[in-house]
Amino acid sequence: MGNTLEGKVVLVTGASSGIGEATALALSAEGALVAAGARRVDRLESLVHKAPGELLALDLDVTDQDSVRAAVAKTVERFGALDILVNNAGVMLTGPIAGADTTEWTRMVETNLLGSMYTVHAALPYLLERKGTVLQVSSTSGRFASAYGGVYAATKFGVTAFSESLRQEVTAQGVRVVVIEPGFVATELADHITDPPTRAAAQEMAASMRTLQPEDIANAVVYAVTQPQHVAVNEILIRPTDQT
Ligand code: NDP
Repeated sequence: MGNTLEGKVVLVTGASSGIGEATALALSAEGALVAAGARRVDRLESLVHKAPGELLALDLDVTDQDSVRAAVAKTVERFGALDILVNNAGVMLTGPIAGADTTEWTRMVETNLLGSMYTVHAALPYLLERKGTVLQVSSTSGRFASAYGGVYAATKFGVTAFSESLRQEVTAQGVRVVVIEPGFVATELADHITDPPTRAAAQEMAASMRTLQPEDIANAVVYAVTQPQHVAVNEILIRPTDQT
């Protein structure tokens, strides 16, 4: 176990699988006190046992502002502060614009964009107190839009825009803002796509390359949040080497 984050308090959203789970474990291994939030609490309970350090499982739906505020309050109540927010919860329900089920658009905007904004809003007073760090999980889709990914990309472009405004507002007060933009990572994210051709295309794309693993992203998160206070790593674009 490392000790670079000894005693630091971290809240990770979307920690029940994939990148969030790997990040919660990696930060715990560095000595952080980790609050891990998501809707599938049973999966978080098993993380409590897997984590090398203290981990608090939080029932969290980022689309619900009361739930977000309660998760932040419980984190501070249990660990006494909040130093790092890993704003990771997200869904990717990609498919063609024509004929789309627009309730999927609503879900993406409410989770990826509004949910991430609500979480920053609730956490910011505590992060300002501690000169903390906000780590925003965006995507390569936050830089490049492509066919069948319009709404997902719109949410991730939105995360990037919001993050830059946030950075300009709080950096002089010592709060660092990091945007991380992963390429293809092997997680269950694409399994939720309901449009069969789009889901098949995602599976084909995954099979065509050596995808990143959630731990690769967790390592990048650890790198960003363990820099000295005067070093703000503002953006990390990280793709599989063979992803064009
Ligand atoms: P997963 O599907 O494994 O993880 C998504 C996480 O988000 C789950 O823990 C899920 O938990 C949580 N989540 C979804 N909706 C909500 C909600 N309303 N409230 C709280 N938590 C929620 O996928 P990834 O690990 O891949 O995704 C994590 C982030 O990484 C996302 O923001 C995604 O957009 C981003 N990303 C992923 C890439 C990839 O290739 N995999 C590439 C670029 C970015 P639960 O369902 O239990 O609530």
